[in-house]
Amino acid sequence: TVVTRFAPSPTGYLHIGGARTALYNWLYARHHGGVFRLRIEDTDRARSNDDAVRAIIEGLTWFGLEWDGEIVSQFERRERHAAVARQLLAEGKAYHCWLSPAELEAGRERAKAEGKPWNFYNSHWRDRDPAEAPKGVDPVIRLRAPRTGETVVEDKVQGQVTVQNDQLDDMVLLRADGTPVYMLSVVVDDIDMGITQVIRGDDHLTNTFRQVQLYNAIGAVPPGFAHIPLIHGPDGAKLSKRHGALGIEAYRDLGYLPAALRNYLLRLGWGKGDEEIIPTDKAIEWFDLDGVGRSPSRLDFAKLENLNGIYMRETPDSELLERVTPNLETALGRSLDDADRAILLLGLNGLKQRAKTLVELADSALFYLRSGPLPMNDGALKILSADAKALLGRMLAALSGLNDWTEAALEAEVGRLAEAEGLKLGKVAQPLRAALTGSNVSPGIFEVAAILGRDETLRRIRDAVE
Ligand code: GLU
Repeated sequence: TVVTRFAPSPTGYLHIGGARTALYNWLYARHHGGVFRLRIEDTDRARSNDDAVRAIIEGLTWFGLEWDGEIVSQFERRERHAAVARQLLAEGKAYHCWLSPAELEAGRERAKAEGKPWNFYNSHWRDRDPAEAPKGVDPVIRLRAPRTGETVVEDKVQGQVTVQNDQLDDMVLLRADGTPVYMLSVVVDDIDMGITQVIRGDDHLTNTFRQVQLYNAIGAVPPGFAHIPLIHGPDGAKLSKRHGALGIEAYRDLGYLPAALRNYLLRLGWGKGDEEIIPTDKAIEWFDLDGVGRSPSRLDFAKLENLNGIYMRETPDSELLERVTPNLETALGRSLDDADRAILLLGLNGLKQRAKTLVELADSALFYLRSGPLPMNDGALKILSADAKALLGRMLAALSGLNDWTEAALEAEVGRLAEAEGLKLGKVAQPLRAALTGSNVSPGIFEVAAILGRDETLRRIRDAVE
């Protein structure tokens, strides 16, 4: 079976690049009917914290990526990592090293002066008798890495990548205080978790050579590797806060649907022909590593909004209602009741044709729920001139006599008034829109009037006239 993993370090929120990495691992596993694991790389105790772990879990959950099995804590497995280092030591594949930081530094200087590889002198203890070790100094354990030849990574995105072994040093596996280094932990965890395919950001590519050397020393087959290019800002520069290097919860708060964000992040770095709208079931069916591009992708918020609008229009109104309820309740300062929900279920279809985010959708829906005086935007205030108010007064009289309160009947009645006034329908509709919605833009105004109902419509017109 295929086994992938997402292995975030809980040093901050789940950022957008991490979310995409998680998505690709999840899709790859689901495509192959495999397993997707979550491992929290919390070995850096100073920088890890529980809030970040919570943010990652909540973020993945909101994003819709369910993982299989228990969450693995890397820190809790540190004894196991250390045991592997000691095992390699016992097998002669690693050795004790007593070099002090000052000696290492001097070695680097000397190698530089002599034009030798930078690490030429840091394997001093590789073939020395431990009996010569200084007293009272705790040694580190170093890998006895190959000296000659090369290490090759067959990367499924980057292609074949090679490094000469004399460019890699005998890396430290276990620090003098007995704690494992990160690289050892990653490899041991990936082996123990049965990971068959690693998919991660290409900032980890240079680590991979050392990891492959470690797999070889341990006698394990390395997994497949796929290093995906990072996400850049809209201007092509490295992603920064200013660009949207935000936590995934910020994207939620901006009003994006998880399904739309999944589609967007999938396409940001992966493609199949010119398919743009790829719902998750199709994504699972189609996802492969061949489709991952080699150059960094650029965030494009206009594209994301556009996709989000498409997904919102496809989303059932009952689900949209649930998603916008928190925004509406915050804006209104009260909870929604059954009457609110009923009117929203009638109104959302018209509203969602125009909105690009849930935030916009909630904003545009508020007018349906106002019972007191309607707040007016600048456009509406401009429309409601003295002439327009006089016109609304005559409309009030005409509509008061209307028996059939439907969209069609309302349109016909207002149409008759427009004709009598010698005005185009739009000229008459705009004051009505301002009166009913407090805005110069809204769904079709006769639809709005029909949904608001007779009493509320007449009340709002009366309000606007006064
Ligand atoms: N913990 C690493 C990170 O958050 C990922 C390591 C890996 O995927 O091998 O960047």
